[in-house]
Amino acid sequence: MASGSDLSRLKEQVASATDIVVLTGAGISADSGVPTFRGKDGLWRNFRAEDLATPEAFERDPRLVWEWYNWRRELIAAKRPNPAHHTIVELEQRCRHFWLITQNVDGLHRDAGSQKLSEIHGNIWMVRCTVCCHVFENRDVPVQIPPKCHDCGGLLRPHIVWFGESLADEDLRRSYAALRSCNLCLIIGTSGLVYPAAGFASVAKEFGAFVAEINLDSTSQSPLVDVSLLGRAKDIVPLLLDPIQ
Ligand code: NAD
Ligand code: ZN
Repeated sequence: MASGSDLSRLKEQVASATDIVVLTGAGISADSGVPTFRGKDGLWRNFRAEDLATPEAFERDPRLVWEWYNWRRELIAAKRPNPAHHTIVELEQRCRHFWLITQNVDGLHRDAGSQKLSEIHGNIWMVRCTVCCHVFENRDVPVQIPPKCHDCGGLLRPHIVWFGESLADEDLRRSYAALRSCNLCLIIGTSGLVYPAAGFASVAKEFGAFVAEINLDSTSQSPLVDVSLLGRAKDIVPLLLDPIQ
């Protein structure tokens, strides 16, 4: 449970911050019913995500990878943003400088109305041509396999950053600029195991921000944050905007 005094300290920080960065991971979407990768619910036909979300897996068997994405699309299409997503939109609207960095590919932050954000691992509703590199929105559930590019007929792939691939330069640039200038950094529902996002909390800390973590459990980042609130994102995040007593 979140201790009352830690919650009060964090609420004061939220009320006074002029520059906020929020980093989210699969935990915030778990409260909307999207399975995290590391739980047993994240498994599909006994494959681990690490064996399917790679360029090698796609090269070897694009059909199998697309079938997995079709399963995930179907799962995610029925999900809606939860109160934690909505609170983050309100923070964006209230705070002069704000940036959201999400590792989630489900698009739930955009669905909630977030506009100032980097989806650093991509978005499951976007596809990219493996030949001409054009990026398109595609909300089909399921996607017709094999999906073909409207422009050049090339094979389309999910516009997702897979294991072993680099993040887009522009996303990294924006994220680091925001982390360096913020005075409050909120880390919500991420295990802190996947880099470079796992290093973001320490960048914010090094540049003087107050750093808070909201997670069901302690993580590898817990020792370096100023406040760690244990609990569900959907229950705790909305409390941050409650009036200070
Ligand atoms: P992760 O699965 O490694 O960790 C999830 C974290 O959320 C854990 O620390 C867990 O304790 C916490 N958590 C679980 N339920 C919670 C809740 N209700 N409230 C608060 N915290 C909760 O996820 P990650 O750190 O995001 O890294 C996994 C990678 O997998 C990411 O790169 C991401 O791109 C990808 N992924 C994305 C989605 C998605 O788009 N929804 C889902 C699964 C995985
Ligand atoms: Zn093309």
